[in-house]
Amino acid sequence: MNDASVTDAIKTDVLIVGAGPIGMFAVFELGLLEMKAHLIDILDKPGGQCAELYPEKPIYDIPAVPFITGQGLVDALMAQIKPFGATFHYGEMVETIERIGDPAFRVRTDRGKTFEAKVVVIAAGGGSFQPKKPPMPGIEAYEGRSVFYSVRRMEDFRDKRILIAGGGDSALDWTLNLAPLAKSLTLLHRRDAFRAAPDSVNKMRALVEDGQVDLLLGVVTALQGADGRLSGAVVKRNDGSEVTLACDTLLPFFGLTMKLGPVANWGIALHEGELIPVDTAAFETSEPGIFAVGDINWYPGKLKLILSGFHEVALMAQKAHRYVYPDKKLIFQYTTSSTSLQKKLGVA
Ligand SMILES: Cc1cc2nc3c(=O)[nH]c(=O)nc-3n(C[C@H](O)[C@H](O)[C@H](O)COP(=O)(O)OP(=O)(O)OC[C@H]3O[C@@H](n4cnc5c(N)ncnc54)[C@H](O)[C@@H]3O)c2cc1C
Repeated sequence: MNDASVTDAIKTDVLIVGAGPIGMFAVFELGLLEMKAHLIDILDKPGGQCAELYPEKPIYDIPAVPFITGQGLVDALMAQIKPFGATFHYGEMVETIERIGDPAFRVRTDRGKTFEAKVVVIAAGGGSFQPKKPPMPGIEAYEGRSVFYSVRRMEDFRDKRILIAGGGDSALDWTLNLAPLAKSLTLLHRRDAFRAAPDSVNKMRALVEDGQVDLLLGVVTALQGADGRLSGAVVKRNDGSEVTLACDTLLPFFGLTMKLGPVANWGIALHEGELIPVDTAAFETSEPGIFAVGDINWYPGKLKLILSGFHEVALMAQKAHRYVYPDKKLIFQYTTSSTSLQKKLGVA
């Protein structure tokens, strides 16, 4: 890695890996104790599993909230942490964590960003969400050049002949978003029924009526092209007939699975190969200054519940304070009665 990335490093008190509900609430607990945070997430939005896997499902066991949807919880957390002005970096995966002080860490992402933080909080949940790859022979040869499992920059798809495969929310959302930019856009799904929001399905059908999108029912059986550049896809239609579709971009959206990903390479001892053991006094790992909270950690009696993660970040913040402000004494305070905490929250 060159020196420029180190000079340009983004400096922060605390670097949070993962912007799921627990990483988000960590911002609140750290903020009350005057610690600034940056969060990095592979996804293009906050909320982790709640936003990605069950945005419309109800959650019934958040204390004092009898009912809230996954997305509702994420929105409420965003509002709650707003006073602390944390910076979110979406669409980036933390690849390495390197100790540079006692404690101090240099953290790098797959998109070339470098961070320097006194404390690292791993809130990486079940690990990284990875796309489910479709069983298309030879697809690997086109990945990253003509085949993409996510859209990071819409502009990259301007004037392309796009084939989107899938029938869920991602397939429909990107059909709607990319249709105005694309030279041509075909949506391919196995059947004429979609698992996406009804409003998106209606909008997609309107674009098909308008001739802006082609809807094809069937499956891709072969890809055509050379040197990683796609020129066409052979599609077997539901009626058994075959058609070769000219396209230079394929976006398969067949859902996501969770894999531990780079967390496994950060030199931290793992429990049963996939969870990070922590002490229950501060949820610190075997590496002083690196904490693990939420679904990613393990300790006797651990429950993978949102309420457990909320408790963990409160205790984590107390210990993190010692690293960030070694000379300051921490005084325990309630938000109901402390004017200083209320000032930080912008309510006094
Ligand atoms: C269908 C379903 C229903 C559920 N219902 C409930 C319920 O009713 N009540 C309840 O308490 N819990 C429920 N859960 C569990 C709950 O969602 C999890 O406990 C919670 O999401 C854990 O939060 P987290 O922040 O630890 O992890 P996650 O929500 O998994 O977020 C982790 C984030 O870290 C990111 N990440 C991972 N690795 C990296 C990396 N290397 N670089 C950058 N980012 C990274 C991921 O992209 C992800 O966004 C449910 C889970 C599912 C799947």
